[in-house]
Amino acid sequence: MPPNMAIRFRILGSSSSGNCALLQTDDCRILIDAGFSARRIAEMLEAVGESIDSIDAVFLTHEHGDHCCGLSGLRKRAELPVFANRGTAEAVQRGLKHRPAWRLFETGARFAFRDLEIDTFLVPHDAMEPVAFVFAHGHDDLFSPRRSIAWVTDLGYAPELVRQRIREVDLLVLEANHDLRLLDQDTRRPWSVKQRISGRHGHLSNEAARDLLASVERPTWKHVCLAHLSRDCNSVESIDRTFASFREPANGFALSVVLPESGSFSFESA
Ligand SMILES: [Zn+2]
Ligand SMILES: [Zn+2]
Repeated sequence: MPPNMAIRFRILGSSSSGNCALLQTDDCRILIDAGFSARRIAEMLEAVGESIDSIDAVFLTHEHGDHCCGLSGLRKRAELPVFANRGTAEAVQRGLKHRPAWRLFETGARFAFRDLEIDTFLVPHDAMEPVAFVFAHGHDDLFSPRRSIAWVTDLGYAPELVRQRIREVDLLVLEANHDLRLLDQDTRRPWSVKQRISGRHGHLSNEAARDLLASVERPTWKHVCLAHLSRDCNSVESIDRTFASFREPANGFALSVVLPESGSFSFESA
């Protein structure tokens, strides 16, 4: 009988400036995105009692620096598998001096890595072939219940496919990038950049993330974690106000937020 091992998940950091999470099962430790320097990722892992040398693979959503800038510093681990679709791998490779051990997947085709089952789906974002992930572990039986986690950041809006794919996960990590009013008032960003952020291939606002959560019928979420917040165009006040209705225990799931500066988050399935 296989041991009934929980999956353990930890967001090491998440904001518009960098994203990286650690997912652990019986058989593997993987990073989801590597959007900090390799040195910083190593430090963040050490802070939680893990080592970058024990990471078995990296999974990339897309080629933006806040998701993949750690790859160049990982060149010493030439054998480390880096999973990405072709569009992302080609775009990332153009910025690298070394060639990582790419493992190409086809967007939409389910595949496995050790004891993980991985689904990917396209999200609307201004990158070559940006995806969201669902990682699942276990079978649907008493001894090894199926547990799953969705990692959904960097999307301008949520198409129906996204709504379907996130409904049945245990943990949903969802982008809540900006407050529409704070983005509008921001004086540092030129109009064109604001248009890009709030556009159909930009980022989910707090309001859009709230509407997405509210529109999913009978979700099985135990926990929802809001991530990829903008440092300048979001605030704890806006998050609290916008997501107030999800704080009710009647929702059936817990809600957490990863703050840009020091935020982290951990989740362990029972
Ligand atoms: Zn992006
Ligand atoms: Zn991003």
